[in-house]
Amino acid sequence: MIKRICIYCASSAQVHQKYFIATSEIADILAENKIEVVFGGGAQGLMGCLADRIVERGGRIIGVMPHFMREVEWDHKQLNEVHFVDDMHSRKKKFLEDVDALLALPGGCGTLEELLEAITLKRLGQFTKPIIIFNLDGYYDPLLSMLDRCIAEKFMSEKHRHIWSVIDKPAQLIGAIANAPAWDSAAIHTAVLK
Ligand code: AMP
Repeated sequence: MIKRICIYCASSAQVHQKYFIATSEIADILAENKIEVVFGGGAQGLMGCLADRIVERGGRIIGVMPHFMREVEWDHKQLNEVHFVDDMHSRKKKFLEDVDALLALPGGCGTLEELLEAITLKRLGQFTKPIIIFNLDGYYDPLLSMLDRCIAEKFMSEKHRHIWSVIDKPAQLIGAIANAPAWDSAAIHTAVLK
């Protein structure tokens, strides 16, 4: 069983209720399995929902937030730990330190950017842990089609399909992490199609 997961999640509070329900279910599974969570530290939207529920269920959750967000009081006040960093780049780097897996919940440009950076780092062998995409009700279908197209048109190789795993139900999370294809830093040697 893994010890720590990083979760990319959205700041919007206006998304459909189904996203909040699924986020709470993910939080329940993580608290139950004593898996520590690292996330953006926000109190709003799916971030706030995740943190509230983890705290409620007695789990452990760590926020990583740039100082400028704290100044406008976006930080969740009940986290076990909060790390304030200089900027968004340092935050993304910190997200990936000492985590055993990464999960992208449905989200906006911030979530997409974080997810695509992690996929790129894994392609280059700089990050090697499972990356799970939560494709609730097909939310990520357009992104997955784009990645398919990258592969079909040889911007990426078939091997790169192993970088990410896709789930559509919270209950699939633990299995998807356990069954994620092995990956290591040697990926740098096959990162480019020559
Ligand atoms: P999005 O999916 O576009 O809402 O972006 C989520 C990401 O945006 C988070 O991981 C943060 O990097 C950043 N972000 C945007 N708003 C907030 C907020 N209110 N509190 C914390 N992080 C935020």
